[in-house]
Amino acid sequence: MHETLENSGAQVQQPAATPALDWLADQGLAMQDLLQKVVNIDSGSRDEAGVTAVAHALAERLLAAGVPVQFEPVPGYGVLLHAQVNAAGEGAPIVLMGHMDTVYPAGTVARRPFRVEDGRAYGPGVADMKSGLVLNVFVAEAFARCGGLSAPLHLFFSCDEEIGSPATRELIMARVRGARAVLNAEPGRVSGNVVTSRKGSMVVEFEVQGVAAHAGINHAAGASAIEALARKTLALHALTDTATGVTCNVGVVQGGIVPNMVAPHAKAEVDLRFTADTDPDALLERVRAIVEEESVPRTQGRITTARRTLPMKPTPDYLLALYQQGARTLGFEVAGEFTGGAADSGLTASVGVPTLCATGPVGGHPHTEREYCELATFVPRAQAVALAVLGHP
Ligand SMILES: [Zn+2]
Repeated sequence: MHETLENSGAQVQQPAATPALDWLADQGLAMQDLLQKVVNIDSGSRDEAGVTAVAHALAERLLAAGVPVQFEPVPGYGVLLHAQVNAAGEGAPIVLMGHMDTVYPAGTVARRPFRVEDGRAYGPGVADMKSGLVLNVFVAEAFARCGGLSAPLHLFFSCDEEIGSPATRELIMARVRGARAVLNAEPGRVSGNVVTSRKGSMVVEFEVQGVAAHAGINHAAGASAIEALARKTLALHALTDTATGVTCNVGVVQGGIVPNMVAPHAKAEVDLRFTADTDPDALLERVRAIVEEESVPRTQGRITTARRTLPMKPTPDYLLALYQQGARTLGFEVAGEFTGGAADSGLTASVGVPTLCATGPVGGHPHTEREYCELATFVPRAQAVALAVLGHP
């Protein structure tokens, strides 16, 4: 389906002669300014107003460059941002993707706003993935200003990735189906590498009902929901299997009322990860069997919610090689990595679209207070994305 690299390589041998790349070369500070603006807007998942405000801040820059932008409302979550460059171009589009939500609750920005120290930017979502959004916006702007595209280029930013895309997964798959390729700007790995396959994830919540009793007077009449939950936790953790890449983590537990009462109720939240070789339905059934087993007599467990993201099938070799070739002409080497972290790239790869992930600026410690973005990687990685777009057959 795709031309060989030898055929397409001629287009990426002279990056210095490409106006879009020259323009990007001078945008480091402008990128940092826009990054500061969007990091300083709280936009945790389900913060409808915050996510929408991020979309508007990004759109402002695009509109000023003459790039048409549409917002698609996602009630309860914010909006999807769509933008097109060279919309009348030939054939299927290349899609630059990202998500505008973060894992941080409202108020985080007030506590630790954007700041720069020793070449690194800090702040909530600075790496995952507001810097990637900014990178994609500037690549789009570069082509809008300088031309040079043959295919249409789309930007598509979602709003609920950090909670497993409950509201947008169907929209994402429908939107990218038939696209030429997807480049998803999750943060580049600390090594500088991009991501060529990812585990899928499943979040399962369950509750256990026991029987309350006074812990001193009639202990034997009780059935401890906490004990049942503890036994289930051990059984669930035993699902972890390094040979198959399945991991299981009971990450949140709650239960009981007071110390002198046998606990009538307990609940837990579980994170499971798995590769494309694992049947997620079968994995869920194993979890269900553990949850529903009467692990302590007279207790009952049931799953209350289960949601999942798909594993990202491996990036086609040609697409990684194309990106690598561009990076090499810019003076840096990258390799493809596998990661246990899930992302929307799993959705786009699942509908058969060649997908490369982690094309954003290099970042570290995502989902922690130490999260940072390596500002010096902004321009070269934007140029590498631009070269991959230009060189794509
Ligand atoms: Zn992310």
